[in-house]
Amino acid sequence: MKAKCKHCGREADSEMFKLHYKYRMMVCADCFTGKTDRDRQKKEASADPRTGGKPPGWDSEDEYLEKMSRMKQQQTVSRFQPILGTKLYQCTCIGCNYNFKFDPLKNMPQSCPYCNEPVPKFKGSVGVNDLF
Ligand SMILES: [Zn+2]
Ligand SMILES: [Zn+2]
Repeated sequence: MKAKCKHCGREADSEMFKLHYKYRMMVCADCFTGKTDRDRQKKEASADPRTGGKPPGWDSEDEYLEKMSRMKQQQTVSRFQPILGTKLYQCTCIGCNYNFKFDPLKNMPQSCPYCNEPVPKFKGSVGVNDLF
């Protein structure tokens, strides 16, 4: 006969169940010998810190979406480069890679002077000091 172990949640032969002095409940043979606890500790110790700590339910789709949104952010950020000594930004056109000056205060030009590709929304920070 099989029974579910309340400690590890696994099904085990009910005849192997024993009362554990510490857990104060009937546990399977693996839990009684401490094997399940050792397995868990081993798993936690060997968990890769980069992949560990992810919320449960994290799957490859989430990972893909996260990667995509990170890439999108990087693209937007790297498209505008501040031009030192001015309030203008060097903008690289996503359509033709043409470099032109972009004025974030006037939000001009709104499209690439070379191929007319719309300029992506400027996400850089325009500080209050820059405005006055
Ligand atoms: Zn168990
Ligand atoms: Zn262009």
